[in-house]
Amino acid sequence: MNKEKRIEIFKRLQANNPNPTTELNFNTPFELLIAVLLSAQATDISVNKATKELFAVANTPDTMFALGADKVKEKIKTIGLFNTKAENIIKTCKILVEEYGSQIPENREALESLPGVGRKTANVVLNTAFKWPTIAVDTHIFRVANRTKLAPGKDVVAVEEKLLKVVPKEYMLDCHHWLILHGRYTCVARKPRCMSCIIEDLCEFKEKTSL
Ligand code: SF4
Repeated sequence: MNKEKRIEIFKRLQANNPNPTTELNFNTPFELLIAVLLSAQATDISVNKATKELFAVANTPDTMFALGADKVKEKIKTIGLFNTKAENIIKTCKILVEEYGSQIPENREALESLPGVGRKTANVVLNTAFKWPTIAVDTHIFRVANRTKLAPGKDVVAVEEKLLKVVPKEYMLDCHHWLILHGRYTCVARKPRCMSCIIEDLCEFKEKTSL
């Protein structure tokens, strides 16, 4: 895909949604970190339901750590992998309290060293809470980048590297949210909705649908 097409894609995505953000509910970097940690293999809607209850009783590293793993499990038991996620949340809170003054570190290495926090979660926190121009490649972005040929790659790291190379600077901060939303609602996994896609004429996918 050439540069002009890429620019036009982002122009349209921006015009369609000038201020995109995550669909996870959060008020602080800590709440965002916990929500993203819970969102692995779970829908944003299910995470929002659980965090509404959880954050009502604990929304800081100190209060969450004091709550303890069993009570966290109770609050998030509707979410997949809740046992492991609750254990990781408590371990992460302990480290935040003991090593980071109960703050979320604005530092990739420090974030990725927290239990349950991988590259994708760190990227989301750096981008959404701290406004770093990072791109967290999830299943939606991976699909959209490959189908459109915007940034093809064999795995999520390759797609992330390619996006960082080719996305114009002025679109980098919001790129992650535009592509996720596009993949979630238009360029969906089974049958992309090509007929109602605002970038259909720019997309280089060979098997566009007539939906
Ligand atoms: S035209 Fe179809 S395949 Fe291409 S981005 Fe749009 S929905 Fe996805």
